[in-house]
Amino acid sequence: MSTIFTKIIQKEIPADIVYEDDEILAFRDISPQAPEHILVIPKKEIPTVNDIEDADAILVGKLFLTAKKIAKELAFDEKGYRLVMNCNEDGGQTVNHIHMHILAGRQLSWPPG
Ligand code: 5GP
Repeated sequence: MSTIFTKIIQKEIPADIVYEDDEILAFRDISPQAPEHILVIPKKEIPTVNDIEDADAILVGKLFLTAKKIAKELAFDEKGYRLVMNCNEDGGQTVNHIHMHILAGRQLSWPPG
């Protein structure tokens, strides 16, 4: 089922887009949990990490490569950042379209609460 992220992909609702190509979109989170909080998503609708298939391997790899590119472009690559993918209820997933959170710009605690 489509989510709010499909509406962002289709430009039906606005987002602060930081990267886009044919397969990937990255935009700032509406409720940032760090000075830099960006979501990297595939344009393909994949609800959860549990739904990733072998055929998606390259696409999922591109999420990491895009995150790396954004970190360098926004100049927090050397200082550091965290990549997070939440899955289902216990993981804290609220939007059922897989997305990689990039969190940066402050010292992040570990483990998460
Ligand atoms: P999750 O909790 O599923 O891992 O992450 C979903 C994220 O999407 C949350 O951090 C939430 O703030 C963000 N989000 C939800 N709706 C919107 C929206 O309409 N626009 C943007 N930019 N972010 C959204």
